[in-house]
Amino acid sequence: LVEVQRISKSYGALQVLTDVSLDVAKGEVVALIGRSGSGKSTLLRCINGLEPIQAGAIRIDGVQVNDPTTNLRKLRQEVGIVFQSFNLFPHLSVSDNITLAPRVVKNQPPEAARELAREVLRRVGLEDKLDAFPAQLSGGQQQRVAIARSLAMRPKVMLFDEVTSALDPELTGEVLKVLESVAREGMTMILVTHEMGFARRFGSRAVFMHEGRIHEEGRAAAMLAEPKTLELQTFLNAVL
Ligand code: ATP
Ligand code: MG
Repeated sequence: LVEVQRISKSYGALQVLTDVSLDVAKGEVVALIGRSGSGKSTLLRCINGLEPIQAGAIRIDGVQVNDPTTNLRKLRQEVGIVFQSFNLFPHLSVSDNITLAPRVVKNQPPEAARELAREVLRRVGLEDKLDAFPAQLSGGQQQRVAIARSLAMRPKVMLFDEVTSALDPELTGEVLKVLESVAREGMTMILVTHEMGFARRFGSRAVFMHEGRIHEEGRAAAMLAEPKTLELQTFLNAVL
């Protein structure tokens, strides 16, 4: 479903990704790990077409992301991305936050959009917050609304960039639970995470990035239990 073929990316003279290749099948959950600055966020942004690349190719369900004739707006509806900061609109209710894009981009009538909001909120366990405003929610609840908002576009793949990093430990668990249930529904996911326990249990695969390259990858449980390279051993010792 997601094909990343030998991509390279630089910001000016700074080479950030070098010869990165990654194939993600439908329904697969890939945990992307690595030190700060190793290029994890950049890789997600390239997959979503938010960043141009200098070499290689990226395809989502056969559609090439880095092709000037590709309709990136349409492509981004199929590739949801959720960041560390939730970016909800503070002046809009939860329902309006969720239905804004479906109404504007997909021309959904208001009643259908509200029903959709109800459905995706149910999936993140917040059906009762339909008419709340972001400021009335905890950080964990806001992040769950951000995930619901992304689900409302019915993406083919979801990218999560350290979605629990800004949260207190007691709120992290509730967001991880939501990620788990989205994974169980069969969603294809690539997630950058520092939650190694989560990566081990739910990542069918783990990918370790080091200095802009994929340094080691494998089945999550095995790879995290028995890292082969010194760099991954060092990284795991530092985060665990
Ligand atoms: P972290 O764990 O801290 O989020 P990361 O693995 O996500 O790190 P990236 O954000 O992908 O790392 O950054 C990789 C490299 O690219 C870093 O050296 C960073 O300074 C650089 N970089 C990222 N964004 C830009 C930008 N917009 N302009 C210039 N350099 C950038
Ligand atoms: Mg990052």
